[in-house]
Amino acid sequence: MAAVNSKITLKLLIDARSHKVLFGEAGKDFIDFLFSLLTLPLGSVIKLLSPRTMIGSIGKLYQSVENLNEIYLVANRAKASLLQPEVSTSYVTNQLLLGTEATVMVPSVSSVELKYYLCNYCYKKVTTVRNTMCPSCKYAMVSDVAFVAPSGSASSVGAGNAGEGVGGFVKEVVTYMITDDLEVTPMSAISSITLVNRFIMKKDVQLEEKVVAVGMKEGLALLKASLDSPTALTDVFCQPNKKKAKPPS
Ligand SMILES: [Zn+2]
Repeated sequence: MAAVNSKITLKLLIDARSHKVLFGEAGKDFIDFLFSLLTLPLGSVIKLLSPRTMIGSIGKLYQSVENLNEIYLVANRAKASLLQPEVSTSYVTNQLLLGTEATVMVPSVSSVELKYYLCNYCYKKVTTVRNTMCPSCKYAMVSDVAFVAPSGSASSVGAGNAGEGVGGFVKEVVTYMITDDLEVTPMSAISSITLVNRFIMKKDVQLEEKVVAVGMKEGLALLKASLDSPTALTDVFCQPNKKKAKPPS
């Protein structure tokens, strides 16, 4: 639905007194984005968040590779494969939110155009280098075979929106509920009332609805918060001291 640069919106129920998010309500586009975070290679995550801000030691590990002279690397393994690993191309629209399009737009299948060679003796082994010996029958593998991208992958989704329900992960028809610690479930009246009640019982609350826009800045902040905070939505959208997230235009 959303054009490449348009922002995704997310509806939040917040407590204006404590500046906490009770839960959020969102459609397919936001949930697809959240789920797509799980498809990111660790190297990409560190690059996106900048190695220096990483909790733990993984940032140093990343920087070591960055600083290591190429002469120590096996020739066919470029640094780039560690520092900017290829992001799966199946979910292109979501990852645009993280500004990873530069790497995303290099589809592994179509641009590299790997050729595949089948063993035409056993028909069970395939390789990318012609004349490689089949490990089972010891014949040279020479039969050209073509790779067919499955439907729903990047090559078939193409640049446009593709059919509804083809791209991404979740179905369009359902509204989803997201808790502050990013538990995602299909929205149901009962579960949201239960959550609200639990919250109201605790203390005085001042419930407020707030619609926020999720763009690249918020996308990156969510990625970071998802890794180091149990209150990701509050951290990103409800910081009392920071300026408020702008409503969608
Ligand atoms: Zn064979």
